[in-house]
Amino acid sequence: MKTFYVTTPIYYPNDVPHIGHAYTTVLADVLARWHKSNGYDVFFLTGTDEHGLKLQRSAEKAGKTPKEFVDEMVPIFKKYWGLLDIQYDRFIRTTDPDHEELVGRVFERLHEKGYVYKGKYSGWYCVSCEKFYSEGEYVEKDGQKLCPIHNKPLEWVEEETYFLKLSAMQDEILHLIEEGNIIKPESYAREVANRIKKEGLRDLSVARPKSRVYWGVELPFDKDFVAYVWIDALLNYLTGVGYLRDNSRFEKYWPSAHHIIGKDILWFHSAIWFSVLRMLGVAPPKMLVVHAYIVNRGLKMGKSTGNVVMIDDLLERYGSSDAVRYLLMRLLNLEKDVEFDQNLLDSIYNGELADTYGNLVRRAGVLALRRLNGEVVKAGLDESLASLATEVISKTQQLMGDLKIAESLSLSFDLLREANAYLNRTQPWSSEDPNKPLYNVLEAIRISTNLLYPVMPKTSEIVSRSLGFEIIPPPNLAYGQTQLFKVKDAPILFKKV
Ligand SMILES: [Zn+2]
Repeated sequence: MKTFYVTTPIYYPNDVPHIGHAYTTVLADVLARWHKSNGYDVFFLTGTDEHGLKLQRSAEKAGKTPKEFVDEMVPIFKKYWGLLDIQYDRFIRTTDPDHEELVGRVFERLHEKGYVYKGKYSGWYCVSCEKFYSEGEYVEKDGQKLCPIHNKPLEWVEEETYFLKLSAMQDEILHLIEEGNIIKPESYAREVANRIKKEGLRDLSVARPKSRVYWGVELPFDKDFVAYVWIDALLNYLTGVGYLRDNSRFEKYWPSAHHIIGKDILWFHSAIWFSVLRMLGVAPPKMLVVHAYIVNRGLKMGKSTGNVVMIDDLLERYGSSDAVRYLLMRLLNLEKDVEFDQNLLDSIYNGELADTYGNLVRRAGVLALRRLNGEVVKAGLDESLASLATEVISKTQQLMGDLKIAESLSLSFDLLREANAYLNRTQPWSSEDPNKPLYNVLEAIRISTNLLYPVMPKTSEIVSRSLGFEIIPPPNLAYGQTQLFKVKDAPILFKKV
């Protein structure tokens, strides 16, 4: 059986997740559901990144131990993923015992292989990024050095550390990134390749002294240090499928690994992650899917920028997880930032979900019940709807394979719009033979509903139950294959805002 292993980044549980997190997570869920319905054996991993100085300090501020702090945050993440109908297979926490054990074992291996060596480090450090910034990277203002992302003062840190010999990997990794066809869209691969060519792949400090950062995984070969939180976090993708623990499981899923990430963490997920994997003798992931952001007032959403849009607000405004999932995927753009615009979302919601889809389902259901007692049998196919539907099925397969989710949604809506026009033209409410037009309208609804299933699973189930058809795998879908619709209900799917 073909496998599909999909991951989201593990999120920092220092605050409630917002629609930026939801954007990535819904995308991963849609890909997971799409592959599942295409017959793949899917494993979907998400979770939380719980170690490091940033969380240590957030916990201190809240008067709690780091573990108490993260234990309270994890249920909040799970609650939101439940509200958005995210069907993950494991919620991994970097404090999980199997993960902590794996981090230790990986460091031991890297150390034994000579990739980890002791050295001294000094530099300007951003606690929020958990990252050093060199000259040219940080922003200087009023004699202060500021983080280019957080706009907060950097701290001067001078300490002993362990380095990971990334420089030894430079040529191989540059080649892999340029030729490996792993990073999608390709513009991001070029970005990483250019950066490697410009500044080289420098050795990376991968340990923190316990005297400063106690909240992390201890290095097995030196108890005075903990693992750098970024390496700790990246390794979750290996823990999730049983690396060094369950070999057959690891070999089953790892070759199909798809990491979904936002563009801000591209460097760590490509240059650094691919290097670590190569040092371990593990193949790179099959695909690294990178997306741009939903921005608000031109800026990436964040606590410090104060422009966060909450998941609750969207759920309340649009009334269902499916509507929110649809809107997020409708905006999805991997390469360009998309501005959050409430008016635009309202008009997409009203125009597409309420008027086009919802209204058609309602009308078709009511007419089938009133005029045919709910029994609509197979009749002559309308040629133009049939040929459009056939095209929509095959193009959707192709677009979903190319990660063009927003484009694939618009195809299903082309078919629904055509069906609306056809319904108005054929007027089954007054025609003598309402069966043929209603059969064709129901077929068009059935095809679109099947194709929209990964994005709107609950709605698809309501429509299929009400109109009396089944959700089937997209490869088996064909216009005209239904013998009989047994319509039971004419649901109102979306109330206008
Ligand atoms: Zn920062």
